[in-house]
Amino acid sequence: MGIEQRYAQAKIEVAKVCADCGRDPSEVRLIAVSKTVGVEGVAEAFQAGARDFGENRPDRILEKAPQFPDARWHFIGNIQSRRIPDIVKNADLIHSLSHMHHGEKINQAAAALGKIQDVLIEVNVTGEASKSGVRPDEAFDVVSRLSAFPHVRVCGLMTMAPAGDLATADTAFADLAELARSIHASLDPKDAVHFTELSMGMSDDWRLAVARGATMVRIGRAIFSDSY
Ligand SMILES: *Cc1c(COP(=O)(O)O)cnc(C)c1O
Repeated sequence: MGIEQRYAQAKIEVAKVCADCGRDPSEVRLIAVSKTVGVEGVAEAFQAGARDFGENRPDRILEKAPQFPDARWHFIGNIQSRRIPDIVKNADLIHSLSHMHHGEKINQAAAALGKIQDVLIEVNVTGEASKSGVRPDEAFDVVSRLSAFPHVRVCGLMTMAPAGDLATADTAFADLAELARSIHASLDPKDAVHFTELSMGMSDDWRLAVARGATMVRIGRAIFSDSY
């Protein structure tokens, strides 16, 4: 199987898992994480119908996004202050915001471009020291402070579950969904209407994430790797 077939297969599987847990497939966006392939790989997935792509490096999103203007580009990587203008210029949604000072710079960069930047707050649900993301108890404050910036729109939460342990991943997804519900309930209605996204689940664990309410799954290897 090549990229086109694997993308098509993933799309079918997402619909099937949605059906199994009583969800409408239109509620779950499949993001093809193209960080390991070049422009040709993106083109193959695009050909198969992919319209959402995830990248974790500013250079890569800068290279690819302008070549696929009809796709939506998701920045899912580590944010460095000096790369924020490049990220904001190319990303439809930033999934990995976890520092207030980056939020301020994103607001400035978006203002300069006359756009409103959609962001998700990355949460370190399990508290692993090696992981980025805000602590669950900090998330309320971060969301409410970012909501005050006119050029930033907080659309929900994102997490990365620990690899290789599906039971812990499942708990992390359930906890993120619960946290999102509490934050949603605490928000001013004008901010709450936008706070609807849950970005969780990767190649190995996305099925659990969908069952726990993911609205976006970020799938890389299962689409782009020959050896997955
Ligand atoms: C690489 C990456 C993914 C995709 O992971 P796979 O296991 O290849 O599906 C998802 N989210 C983030 C943040 C990533 O860096």
